[in-house]
Order: sequence, then C-alpha cells, then structure tokens
Amino acid sequence: MPTYAYLCRACGRPFEIRMSIREKDTWKPRCPVCKSAKVEQQLFGFSFGGSGGGQPAPGG
Ligand SMILES: [Zn+2]
Repeated sequence: MPTYAYLCRACGRPFEIRMSIREKDTWKPRCPVCKSAKVEQQLFGFSFGGSGGGQPAPGG
C-alpha cells in the first residue's frame, strides 16, 4: 500500500497517509492536526538542505 505525503497549507504541518490507490480516488485529504482540507500533496524524492531554504525553524 503506497504512502502519500501531504503538507497542510493551513498550519504548515506535514503528514503521511497510507491508503490504496482505489481509496485515494474517493478519499478527501484532511490535516490530522487542524482538520483543514487545505492540504497539498508532496512528492517523494525531494530532500531539504542546501542554501536558500525558506522553511521556518521548528521551535521558533
Ligand atoms: Zn493543519
């Protein structure tokens, strides 16, 4: 079963959902933290790091 990575655009938290492709067809992704439906699917294969990162530091 594939895992899909999402990023919540409302609270900025990344989360992963494991489901079948058939489920994904009807499933509406929602943030498990703030329950927002404003989420964006992330693609695997990217990596953070390097220069020019605009990501807010955790704990700040
Ligand atoms: Zn959220």
